Parts: sequence; C-alpha cells; structure tokens
Amino acid sequence: MAERDSAPLVAILTGAGISTDSGIPDYRGPQGVWRKDPEAEKLVTYAYYMADPDIRRRSWRMRGESPVWKSVPNAAHEAIARLERTGTPVRVITQNVDGLHQAAGVPGRKVLELHGNARTVLCTECGARSTMEQALARVAAGEPDPACEACGGVLKSATVMFGQQLDGEVLAEAVAVAKACDVFLAVGTSLQVQPAASLAGLAAEHGARLVIVNAEPTPYDPIADEVVRDPIGQALPRLLAELRPGGSAPS
Ligand SMILES: [Zn+2]
Repeated sequence: MAERDSAPLVAILTGAGISTDSGIPDYRGPQGVWRKDPEAEKLVTYAYYMADPDIRRRSWRMRGESPVWKSVPNAAHEAIARLERTGTPVRVITQNVDGLHQAAGVPGRKVLELHGNARTVLCTECGARSTMEQALARVAAGEPDPACEACGGVLKSATVMFGQQLDGEVLAEAVAVAKACDVFLAVGTSLQVQPAASLAGLAAEHGARLVIVNAEPTPYDPIADEVVRDPIGQALPRLLAELRPGGSAPS
C-alpha cells in the first residue's frame, strides 16, 4: 500500500450488479438485455439513433418505461454514502447511468459516471443540457421525438451509446483515481468491459488493495487481495464498515 500523509483514498468501481436490488436489470453488460436483443441494441446505438427517426421514437418510448425513474438506492448505495459522510476520502467510478449513488447522498463531484447519466438530456447539435423529466413530459404530451428547443437538433439521453467514445476527461480522472487510491473495490461488475475493467488492474499495479465483490468470477480475481461472492447488499455494508475511521482493519 502506498505511503500517504492523509486518510486512505477508497475508490469504488460499480457496475450493473449494484443496482439490481433497486429493480434495474443489467442492460449494457456482455450478458445484458440490450446485447441479447439486436432490435433493442439498435435503440441505443449512436449511428442508428441519429439516422432513423423511428428508432428515436422507439427509444423515447423505452426511456419513458425505464425502471430507473421509480428506483431508489439500496443498502449498497447507502453504505457507500455512509462511508463518504464519515470524512473518508471516497471516489465512486460507475458504469451505471441511474444516478443512484447521488440519490443516496454521495456528492456529484465524487461520482465519475463512465457511461453518463440517464436523468439528463443532451442536444447532439448545440450541446445544450436539460432534464429527462422535461423531455419525457414532451413525449407524453404528444411529441414522439422531441427536438432541441434552442436549435432543433436531435436530443438524446446524456449517456454513452454503443458506438460512442467515453468522455475523455471522465476517463482520465478515473485513471488518476485508480493510480492514487489505497483500496479499490470493484462491485457488481463482470470486469469484462474495457476500459473500465482495466482500472482494477491499474489500481493493483499501483499498490492498492484490490477487493472484488461480484456473484460471478471475473478476469481480475487472480490478482485480487480479496474476492467476495456474497450478495452485494450484505457484503458491501460489512466491507465498508471496516474502512471507516475506527473500523476494524481489513485482514
Ligand atoms: Zn440544440
């Protein structure tokens, strides 16, 4: 573990598995809903979305029906927020777009969203941002493919679609966190999607204690200091309690 003057930095990479207890299925992972259904995958593939108004209409309907809007944070999200409130330096790096870490109380500046956020809408033309709530209200009011009110451009959720690059700044910050952290927890992610997965290896290379919490084996299990297969909602509150000031040191 790297020598540090301040309290140890805890990095937590989260994937779809942390949100399944909140009723949100895995959509974009290798075994996710979208990857298994070519028609559904088109709705979240940038080239199809931009080229075809019918794809956009179907995509807006799908967004309206998303389980994200009714979801609330679960015990695992709350455990992370609790650790952050103790003053322990925490950075969350998430592959999820549901905004549940922030809903649990983790300050937005401490959450790096590798795939963006489904609660925000982005104009592909002028870059204007607005809320998904407003856009879905327009869809419900009879605009099946609402256009940007400023410039008439195509609107989409502020998420990284298939065929789009990750945000370079967000990724660079995630890499910096992985290199600097003392503990790196990978939670509910199969660690099969790059470049997110490689953050685990990077953290380990730079001396962090690597803890993997996932129901299924991951390619990074052999280099992990600890692999936990227990349900995330039980395992994470226990693991994070050990990291709190005054908590028992990880063995
Ligand atoms: Zn615009």
